[in-house]
Amino acid sequence: MKNQPKKIAVLTSGGDAPGMNAALRAVVRASVFYGIECFAIHQGYQGLIDNEFELMNARSVNNIINKGGTIIKSARCLEFRTPEGRKKAYNNIKNGGIEALVVIGGDGSFTGAMIFQNEFNFPVIGIPGTIDNDIYGTRYTLGYDTAINTVVEAIDKIRDTASSHNRLFFVEVMGRDAGHIALNSGIGAGAEEILIPEENLGLERLLESLKKSEKSGKSSSIVVIAEGDKTGKNVFEIASYVEKNLPYYEVRVSVLGHMQRGGAPSCFDRVLASRMGVFAIESIIEGKSNSMVGVIDDKMVLTPLKKAIKGKSKINTNLIKVSDILSI
Ligand code: ADP
Repeated sequence: MKNQPKKIAVLTSGGDAPGMNAALRAVVRASVFYGIECFAIHQGYQGLIDNEFELMNARSVNNIINKGGTIIKSARCLEFRTPEGRKKAYNNIKNGGIEALVVIGGDGSFTGAMIFQNEFNFPVIGIPGTIDNDIYGTRYTLGYDTAINTVVEAIDKIRDTASSHNRLFFVEVMGRDAGHIALNSGIGAGAEEILIPEENLGLERLLESLKKSEKSGKSSSIVVIAEGDKTGKNVFEIASYVEKNLPYYEVRVSVLGHMQRGGAPSCFDRVLASRMGVFAIESIIEGKSNSMVGVIDDKMVLTPLKKAIKGKSKINTNLIKVSDILSI
């Protein structure tokens, strides 16, 4: 702990996710614990450019562990994508005496952090905050557990209507490139079929499965579809295709949308955020940089930002089999 920095800064960037506040709390309190001054930067990278720094103390992060969103705000910042914007950010950071930066965000935010690190040789550590769980180098990202619980709760409610009216519901969930949310919430909510971006299960197979269900006495069903499912069709197109081919089903569509991002973080996400925040500060103290914190096999690990951005987080294909077996 010889070259421990005296001042660091933390920001939240990109899409918000439940657990970002809990991570902010952990970063601030771990900094205070280790005798480091911690500044919160408001509005993500925009706040770096606009010099919106706020000195935090242990009490500044009271009563936020349970809050969704991010109290220091997030922003999409075009200026940070330019060398001039990043130079402004660097000047502000240098003038403020900041010696390291913690970025809580997704792969876009990490790309910005990596470029910033490379240009100015400035220490950065990332904390993965995104509901999609699509970042390499960690088994779980902040917000994912909360999101799948939110989705399961929503589908439970939809199921009440589906079963009361013998309806077939198509529920679209978030996940343009990754099927983690669809696959896990689909199994958790007892879905009939789950369509994901990673595997093309095909529309014919969907029809066959629904026909079989109807024959076996099921009068209502739920199909979960990730935004970016591989059939290339959106949820409305899939629903009308099924309606045309299986007229005995009364079909409805529900797009869950942004409600999946909101809400109080689950206990799992709060613990994860707390561990990641503490580990981020301890990594900075050890002189680590250009890396993302993550959890693998319940151990805290660091992955180079480049790998975290480029690598692919794989779905558990065994879950597809489990879903098939249980939806007979
Ligand atoms: P997420 O972090 O959730 O993936 P974005 O992709 O919107 O969200 O990225 C968040 C912010 O990170 C952007 O608004 C921008 O300021 C910064 N960023 C993303 N990509 C780059 C890049 N290639 N160069 C510089 N900054 C970037």
